[in-house]
Amino acid sequence: MKGECLCGEVAFEIEGELPNIYQCHCSLCRKATGSTANAATFVEEQNFRWLFGQSHIRSFQKPTGYRSDFCSVCGSPVPNKLRDTDLIWVPAGLLDEATASQVAVHLHVSSSASWAQESDCCVRLVGGPDSLESFNQALQRKTAPIKSH
Ligand SMILES: [Zn+2]
Ligand SMILES: [Zn+2]
Repeated sequence: MKGECLCGEVAFEIEGELPNIYQCHCSLCRKATGSTANAATFVEEQNFRWLFGQSHIRSFQKPTGYRSDFCSVCGSPVPNKLRDTDLIWVPAGLLDEATASQVAVHLHVSSSASWAQESDCCVRLVGGPDSLESFNQALQRKTAPIKSH
């Protein structure tokens, strides 16, 4: 199983079966990802290998110890070693291959963002929207959803 960041400068490989995925909805993980939650898992250090790009990795740490490692070129979160363990934290969105792993745990659900729910007229398109205009319309509150064709 290979994975890489958005720009492709940092890449890694995992041997063996991937464990299931967890999502953390805490305010720190929301800010670190810019999203509703992170999605990640832990693998044994012996099953993890950097392919290239480690020199591009920068690290940010809160005084509390919360840490985020990221690619200095594109900003993607990247794997990092969990303090005092032989486990490597792996952001699931970086993985490039299909896996049988599924989201198995949600953490800090009580901290979920108020917007982390689907509206009554939420649409799911297989691809992208037809146009920026129709997309933007759908994002305006209390309007009809974009049509898919
Ligand atoms: Zn990158
Ligand atoms: Zn969190």
